[in-house]
Amino acid sequence: MSEPQTHTFQAEIQQLLDIVIHSVYTDKEVFVRELISNAADACEKFRFRQSGGESPVLDPDVEPLIAVALDEEANTVTITDTGIGMTEADLAANLGTIAHSGTKAFFQQLAEQKKAGSNLIGQFGVGFYSAFMVADRVTVESRSSEPEEGGHKWESQGAAGYTIEPAADLPRGTRITLHLKEDAKEFAKEHRIETVIKRYSNFVQFPIRLNDKQVNTVQALWTRNKSEITDEEYKEFYQFVGHDFDEPQYRLHYSVDAPLAIQALLFVPKRNMESMGFGKSDPEVNLYCRKVLIEPKAKGLLPEWLRFVRGVVDSEDLPLSISRERMQDSALMEKLKSVITKRFLKYLAEEAEKDAEKYAAFYKEFHRFLKEGLLTDYANQDTIAKLLRFDSSFAEKGKTTSLDDYIARMKDDQKEIYYLTTYNRESGESAPYYEVFRSRGYEVLFLYDPADEFVMERLADYNEKKLVSAEKADLKLDDEQTEGLSEEQSKELTGWIKTRLDQSVDEVRTSNRLVDSPVVLLAKDKEMTATMRQMMRNLGRDGDLPPMPMDLEINPRHPVIVKLNELRATDEGLAGQVTEQLLDNALIMAGLMEDPRAMVKRLNSLLGSVLEAKR
Ligand code: ADP
Ligand code: MG
Repeated sequence: MSEPQTHTFQAEIQQLLDIVIHSVYTDKEVFVRELISNAADACEKFRFRQSGGESPVLDPDVEPLIAVALDEEANTVTITDTGIGMTEADLAANLGTIAHSGTKAFFQQLAEQKKAGSNLIGQFGVGFYSAFMVADRVTVESRSSEPEEGGHKWESQGAAGYTIEPAADLPRGTRITLHLKEDAKEFAKEHRIETVIKRYSNFVQFPIRLNDKQVNTVQALWTRNKSEITDEEYKEFYQFVGHDFDEPQYRLHYSVDAPLAIQALLFVPKRNMESMGFGKSDPEVNLYCRKVLIEPKAKGLLPEWLRFVRGVVDSEDLPLSISRERMQDSALMEKLKSVITKRFLKYLAEEAEKDAEKYAAFYKEFHRFLKEGLLTDYANQDTIAKLLRFDSSFAEKGKTTSLDDYIARMKDDQKEIYYLTTYNRESGESAPYYEVFRSRGYEVLFLYDPADEFVMERLADYNEKKLVSAEKADLKLDDEQTEGLSEEQSKELTGWIKTRLDQSVDEVRTSNRLVDSPVVLLAKDKEMTATMRQMMRNLGRDGDLPPMPMDLEINPRHPVIVKLNELRATDEGLAGQVTEQLLDNALIMAGLMEDPRAMVKRLNSLLGSVLEAKR
């Protein structure tokens, strides 16, 4: 036999091992969860490899299972599985470099926190390397399920590196031996390990034997009858499949026979990991066929925007032998996706109906996903629209409204649904755009999320009602105007203002929508609304946008406008200054004022005139 080959770990692994080995993390027991989950993954991979039936496997009659053996004398824990095993190359790649997504997330957080927070280990799980929390020497003996591959032994005493050498007479699978550190001897005790296995690994799909006694309940929870499952069992199962330490927020357990036979158990977590700076998450729903795992974290099983959902889908109608690549774009998969998505959306709508407060908490965390869905998932657009919630001029403070509720409250003469992009309720209610709606008693949805306006534009209508931006709505005040400028006077004044303001505005016209404001700026048709433009600017995203042409509307009933028309004849210079100031005021109201300093000079001069007149 050849000499053992010595290798060094990838730099990140060395660093990781350093943290793991010296960690004061108290829940060292999570190593059991990590190693058993690897063993279970290996068993599932084996089952999948065998069910594909393409070519013979090693030891085909040996059932996949996991065995834990303890030796109190020698202070060792040995975890053996009859899974897919690893070749020499696998050993070097899998146990010498970082591939594990959890480990990557761990590093990311570590970099952000700039300190080795050992509690992070428990939060993410550092996979295989967690073995070094309790062991100062780890041996991995493994043999691949490919019949022509021989066995190998991998060994490491920590950060310095590892050796790999051939090992004769190994059965298929992997045997990991942990030589426990002095302070970790407790893990060689049966009752200690048994509790830990039950806590973390009770739902593993393969038998786990501890000193030849089976300790887990091997069961596919999703195939059991709902009425026989306790909340506690659901929670444990969620924590197991969802890799979460929290409780789920929602859970949907259902089974149907047509058009496809499906058993699904889906969960929504409490927190949105993407909003916590983790980057785009991977799909977290595992696909089974008659309890056999076909694809963990199945891509294409749910639309991408539902990537926050976790759980299990089992369908008898899937052919076991199909390869994962072909599965992803098969018509069957499309069908499955459509059926499950529709069912899940229906479930959310029911939950929203049942408990609005609970739904609000969900919405707060996950609304961005719904909006992404509305923009990308055309087939489900209307159903998603039903799930949207907004603040509105009619909503109780702190409560939101749905589009359906809005429609139910619409006035008899109201034909469209109105929305206003704004910063908060106060600025929405004091916006000049809102005045006509208040006077007519029409409800306006207040949108605070920059994504909302895109959503409304894409949706365009809901239940045959057009969705219209309050800034663009073509509405007149209820009552015919009585006071103020005549039509003729208004026309003359608007003409004069246009000459005065020249290029600063596009068109100047008389407004039928203003009550309290003398003027308002309106974006040209088809342009995004002024507030949206402002939000884009705040996000630093307006760089590529062409300058936005704006129209100025004047309120012929407003005393300032009436006086301005008189002043024009007596003091054109002052009237000009007032006009420019009115435009700046409108820009401020629209949130489009870029540099107010230039304005202050004029304002001071105007104040001078006011004080002069009062002398
Ligand atoms: P993860 O399980 O998230 O991929 P780990 O650090 O736990 O990360 O494991 C790294 C890799 O090592 C696994 O992806 C797998 O390829 C391999 N591996 C670990 N344990 C086993 C095992 N018992 N049998 C086969 N492969 C294993
Ligand atoms: Mg793992």
